[in-house]
Amino acid sequence: MVDCLGSRFAVDKNKLHEVLDKAQDFALSTGISMKSLQGEEGSLLAECAPFTLFPSVVPRTCFQEAVDCMLDFNTLIHKVAHDHNFLEKALKNVLHVDDFTQGLWKIYTQVREEGYVQPLSLGLFRNDFMLDVKDPDNVQAKQVEFNTISASFAGLTTSTVLMHRFTLDMIGKDYSAEEVPNNDPALGLAHGMVKAWELYGRKQAVLLFVVSAAERNIFDQRAIEFKAYSINRGVRVLRRTYLDIYNNASLTEDKRLIIDGEEVAVVYLRTGYEPDAFPTHKEWDARLMLERSLAIKCPTIQYQLAGTKKIQQELALPGSVEQFIKDPAAVRRIRATFVKQHSLDLGPEGDKGVELGKTNPDMYVLKPQREGGGNNLYGDDIREFLETHQNSEERNAYILMERIFPKAQKNYLLKPGIPFVLSDVINELGIYGVYIGSATEEKMNTQCGHMLRTKVLGTDEGGICAGFAGLDTPFLVNTDHGASPAKHRKK
Ligand code: ADP
Ligand code: MG
Repeated sequence: MVDCLGSRFAVDKNKLHEVLDKAQDFALSTGISMKSLQGEEGSLLAECAPFTLFPSVVPRTCFQEAVDCMLDFNTLIHKVAHDHNFLEKALKNVLHVDDFTQGLWKIYTQVREEGYVQPLSLGLFRNDFMLDVKDPDNVQAKQVEFNTISASFAGLTTSTVLMHRFTLDMIGKDYSAEEVPNNDPALGLAHGMVKAWELYGRKQAVLLFVVSAAERNIFDQRAIEFKAYSINRGVRVLRRTYLDIYNNASLTEDKRLIIDGEEVAVVYLRTGYEPDAFPTHKEWDARLMLERSLAIKCPTIQYQLAGTKKIQQELALPGSVEQFIKDPAAVRRIRATFVKQHSLDLGPEGDKGVELGKTNPDMYVLKPQREGGGNNLYGDDIREFLETHQNSEERNAYILMERIFPKAQKNYLLKPGIPFVLSDVINELGIYGVYIGSATEEKMNTQCGHMLRTKVLGTDEGGICAGFAGLDTPFLVNTDHGASPAKHRKK
């Protein structure tokens, strides 16, 4: 017998391989899958996305904390994105030393100076948390990062909950809908997309998904497309790369975006958060064209800038959130999820951050202005980086974030290249949300589901596409986060 679900359940070893076999087929046949690497371009070869065999235990209170602040965060990020002074002040020292952020900033500046033709922005967001057990009597959801661009896995996670209910059924573990809640974030995101399409107001106009040429995570994107179609059969999605846009798109005099003869109502970026997406000026020119157009963008360039690590570090400073959110209860909900973050800008304030990181690197994560996983530094690499760049402006491109320590529990992670064994794993919880609005008016603000991803303890990074983690489902419990016997939180 092996213990699962935080020792709440023991699984017969003989049963395991039956469960594994069926779970894999369940995953493949319900679209918890990705295109295979070895597949030719355009091929239909697919393989399971990485996933855990069983749900992982998540304390209900922490889950609720993460859910309860989503509308507040949607509003906060939208307002930050519309505050030029805040963006400029926060990012100015980064721009000198980070070409990628500077590339985004140039587009932002040009579009801002020309005047925005489309007042509305569409945010399909994911707010990521880990459950911190530094104080074991007070486990709390702490924010890892807020994703404003290409927030993924809403599609695959919609089927994951069904698969995990199936594996629980197979091992005879009883559960209620409160313990393993329904979850369909792809539908929520699709509602946002369709709403934006309706607000654009031209029935014949299409949704444009901007994607990379060799996209493995295509089924995740397709799930949102198919849900959008299920909401409104008038919706049609085109998938194009930045290079396609450069070669085949144009703006009309009144800034309508036309690609291959089709007018575009909504642009949804599933690539463009990393420098590799812009190997030449052509991709940058394409991004600029999208941004100058009348189409509703997800995200706008301001949303993308507002999602940078530097902005999140600046928001953690005293008084920043309060500048944007006036309701004290909302401010409390937001602030309760923050860990300390430190600027590393050249100067006395940044020197303090450098000292903290050098003295105690294991207590921090060092983050550059990058998305998509695999970019952060941990432990001795932090010390080495800070010592090497002590007097260099390059350190302005990074921020130092207090490390979150989630509690490990047991689960099986199914991932190519790692053995199928019961492992100590840790989780990261994402909450999805939609925001549509202009600088002055809110049109839509929703929280629409969650995603749990899980990695083997000792793995620093956490992305699924980046190869570190697998899809999981929260099994909500009324006790603290743990594999040990139930312990109630102190009041
Ligand atoms: P990215 O944009 O690359 O996803 P993240 O800020 O999400 O950047 O960091 C990547 C991963 O690093 C996270 O998924 C998480 O596993 C880990 N990580 C990030 N910040 C922290 C933190 N403060 N404490 C512990 N782990 C962290
Ligand atoms: Mg992340």
